[in-house]
Order: sequence, then C-alpha cells, then structure tokens
Amino acid sequence: MWLADHLRSRCYLCQWYAIATDSSTNFPTNIATHPSATTQTLSHSSVSPISLSPSSSTQKSLLCAQCQQQVTWLPPLFTIDINPAFTLSVQSATYYDYPIRQAISAFKHHEDMTKLPVLVHALRQLPKPTGCHEQNSFIVPMPTTTARLQRRGFDPVTILTHYLSQHWQIPIWRGVARVDDTLSQQGLSRAERLANLEDAFTLISPPPKAHLLLFDDVATTGASLKSLANTLHTADQRLHLSAYALAHGNQVT
Ligand SMILES: [Zn+2]
Repeated sequence: MWLADHLRSRCYLCQWYAIATDSSTNFPTNIATHPSATTQTLSHSSVSPISLSPSSSTQKSLLCAQCQQQVTWLPPLFTIDINPAFTLSVQSATYYDYPIRQAISAFKHHEDMTKLPVLVHALRQLPKPTGCHEQNSFIVPMPTTTARLQRRGFDPVTILTHYLSQHWQIPIWRGVARVDDTLSQQGLSRAERLANLEDAFTLISPPPKAHLLLFDDVATTGASLKSLANTLHTADQRLHLSAYALAHGNQVT
C-alpha cells in the first residue's frame, strides 16, 4: 500500500523507471536522487487526467521538471527529398529513444493505454505550424490498411492524431488510403509483395487546397511519409506539405 502511494506520487516517467526491469537504459543513473523521489513531488501527487482543451496547463504536471528536461524535445528538422524540386521537412516531438520509445511500443503493440498521457504530452510539445489554422490547414494521419487494422484491433495513429488535432485546433482530412495487401498483392512473389506494399497510397478524394500537415507516430526512415507526400504532391503540386511525427531517429548513434 505504501509502495502504491509512493509510485502514485511520482511523475509518469519516474514511476515507469522505478518499475522498469531493463537496466540497460541510459536514463540518468542519479534518478534515485531525483527530486520526484522526495517530498518535493507532493505538489504533483495528483496527476490530472488527459484534458482535451487545446492549451491545457495540466500537461505540465504530467512529468516532473527533471524528466521534462531529460527528454530531448523538438530535435532538429530532418528533410526528405520527394523529387528534385520538392523537399519535405519533418518535425518530430522527440527522438525515438528511451523512455518515449518504450511508451510508444507499449501503446502501439500492446494497447497499453496507460502510456497514452505521456505520448499526448509529447505531442503537445509540437508547436502549431506557423500560419496554419483551422481555416487553411488539415492534418493528414498516416493511413493504415484494413488488414493491419483488423490484425491490431486499433489504429494508434488515429488516436494520436485526434489529440494533435485538439492541440493545434486544426481538423483532420482522411482522403488518402493505404493500399491494402489483401486486395492488391495477388499474383506477386513475396519479395514483390514486400516491395509493392512498401508505402503505397491512393487518393480517395481530391486533396483540399490547404496546408496539409502529414502525421505519423514514428518516422524511422521516413519512407512512409515520403510516399504519402509523393502521392499528394503528384495530385497537386501547389499543395503546401509538411510532416510531423511523435518520434524519429536516435539521439545517440
Ligand atoms: Zn519524473
């Protein structure tokens, strides 16, 4: 009982760190002396539930100050060459590193909803794109296939996009579909299927004349974002495209 109370008094990341069994992480080893382990954390002992208000100050209390500082937020933009005339810029909220990486994985692959607050907190580090608002912009979530949706039972990107839309106050546009391997891959070899499956998209409605803010949860190589951007750019070269992700790359290579 005391342990439960103690854990609840810690911020989300401190709490996970305390119960994590993976000792190979490079998270600060001095975390035992972290302020959150002392009575100083009593001020954030009651973690507020996720609020849908666009600029909720409750998010600040989700992580203690030290955890907030330990995570690298808003790493430098990376760019993806779509074609010789067009380069897509990608802004991620953080690196795909411990402990956000573990939170994403638990959420995506094990439907661990206890990790959602921290992921939403990470999303909220993404500043609203300059000049974009609900009248001139749409968020385009990375589509998934029906097969993948059925296999997984839920779509993590859809859930995260909902919160990003609330945060930015920018609506969502779902005019692109991901080519479904169960429908389009017949007659191909395994290698061909994999190559063909790699990020194939099709438009299901004309793209709006707007800023399209592509969003994916994790941009590893950027291949999916590249293909999605290419599909949209090919449809209308005047579209303003930029991309965002919860996490990408590694800080330490
Ligand atoms: Zn903490």
